[in-house]
Amino acid sequence: MCDVTELRCRCLAPECNVDAFHETDIGADSTSSYFSNVSFFDCRFCGSRWLYCSVAEEVFSRPNRWYRGPISLKQSRTITPEYAAEILAILPWYFCGGSDFDTNGRVASGPVSIDMEVDATEVAL
Ligand SMILES: [Zn+2]
Repeated sequence: MCDVTELRCRCLAPECNVDAFHETDIGADSTSSYFSNVSFFDCRFCGSRWLYCSVAEEVFSRPNRWYRGPISLKQSRTITPEYAAEILAILPWYFCGGSDFDTNGRVASGPVSIDMEVDATEVAL
């Protein structure tokens, strides 16, 4: 018997390592008072595209928080770093993690903060 979960691509695991993706950096959110980074992550295994945002207190340090949400290629054509938080917030769900959330990755939805204030609400997939 084949386990259904094995058929899901590894990018669908909240804690999936960033090595699984080809990263296209699209810049920083200039409205953030911290060190933000916004990228497209293309899965090396299934080709799906993700919007990835990370925020750190110190440049080059591990992110205090990060978000990774599934987006379409069409959506990605219009995304700017300043708009990334809004896009993530309207997605049905996204992954988030980092020291602020005390997790290596979990599923969440709702408002996203490229600063440090708003927490994400945990949801079940
Ligand atoms: Zn994948």
